[in-house]
Amino acid sequence: MSDFIPAPGLAPWQRTAAGAGLLAPDGTIAATIFAEMSALAAQTGAINLGQGFPDEDGPAEVLEAARRAIADGVNQYPPGTGMPVLREAIAAHQRRWYGIEVDAASEVLVTAGATEALAATLLAFVDAGDEVVTFEPYYDAYAAIAARAGGVHRTVPLHWSREPGSGWRPDHDELREAVTDRTRVILVNSPHNPTGAVFDVETLSLVVELAERHDALIVTDEVYEHLTFGVVHTPIAALPGARSRTISISSAGKTFSTTGWKIGWIIAPAPLVTAVLAVKQYLTYVNGAPFQPAIATGLGLPDRFFADAAATLEARRDLLAAGLTAAGLAITLPDSGYFIVADASPLGYADGAALCRELPGRVGVVGVPVTAFVHPDRQGSYSSLVRFAFCKRHEVLEEAVSRIAGLSAG
Ligand code: PMP
Ligand code: GLN
Repeated sequence: MSDFIPAPGLAPWQRTAAGAGLLAPDGTIAATIFAEMSALAAQTGAINLGQGFPDEDGPAEVLEAARRAIADGVNQYPPGTGMPVLREAIAAHQRRWYGIEVDAASEVLVTAGATEALAATLLAFVDAGDEVVTFEPYYDAYAAIAARAGGVHRTVPLHWSREPGSGWRPDHDELREAVTDRTRVILVNSPHNPTGAVFDVETLSLVVELAERHDALIVTDEVYEHLTFGVVHTPIAALPGARSRTISISSAGKTFSTTGWKIGWIIAPAPLVTAVLAVKQYLTYVNGAPFQPAIATGLGLPDRFFADAAATLEARRDLLAAGLTAAGLAITLPDSGYFIVADASPLGYADGAALCRELPGRVGVVGVPVTAFVHPDRQGSYSSLVRFAFCKRHEVLEEAVSRIAGLSAG
């Protein structure tokens, strides 16, 4: 367990950047690792397995619904909490997949992606000195926003091993030790970026127990909820005792391959939605009018669509996993999501960040170092790890794999 508190005297924007490890000692700000690596891919023509976005379109019905909405004049501000058709589709989705009853009018808030949902939620509830507990590695936005809010980012490491079948797991005693009466929010991301872990019910139940004991809120980022490979995703809000203190966040970007549309949402008890809305309405106010009914269409697609999306991605995971392993990298096979974390140390690379900067020139592939998901003072145990995205077409992954095979050639 460890805490990250930005250095005193920083301006709020510098604190934000420092939280995500983007503030250099001379005060300059680096681009996010995703932006840097996507730019490097564009410059070099390398295959971009860095930033997680699909390279093909999602379901035709969803795209067509957006076109139709634009043609039908759905082009002005939607209601502040989101269009009723989408809020109702989100409520129906929770009932259909998880058996959770949600009031579409008061317990759902549409946001500009999961990112705005996370920002508005943390800014609504985290005050100076409050602790925000997450696992580490963590999605970079958590650290940036916690720092902007003046919070202390307390992390609990996920441990991994090369044993077959083992994944990335937290130690429950370390989690118990991390949560105290100073904890305002426990922020859980399952399915998890970057590791692809899906936390078991024991871990999620412990989060609920600790949140109750210390009167903390649970914020749960479930943007990869439909992209699991043979394991069951349990939303924390479905666990006994969780509902009244849980803000569930998801997004259409991953499920429907529409990452550029930025349609996300929050599901929470009405008083918590009201609190988040108080902040959210001065961030974007609203967004994406024609995309909202289109995502409502997507959420109503038959089960087959969701099963096929996961199965397609699972086959892509297997292709990349086999290629990385054949190239001599050590991987943990992810149970979900878009990414595989690979250890480059068996090939003699100790510094994943340096390797990622060299990779486009060396073999024509881009990945991102896992150290981008870890605070600067704790990068040691993650330093040789690289995250590769497999949300790409089969032929693109085949080409990437054949290029990565060249890595061991020195
Ligand atoms: N949370 C996680 C874990 C993510 O991986 C991402 C990005 N894909 C987001 C949140 C942001 O989602 P959105 O693009 O909907 O803002
Ligand atoms: N969520 C995507 C990823 O992890 C990228 C989002 C971003 O660029 N901020 O790759």
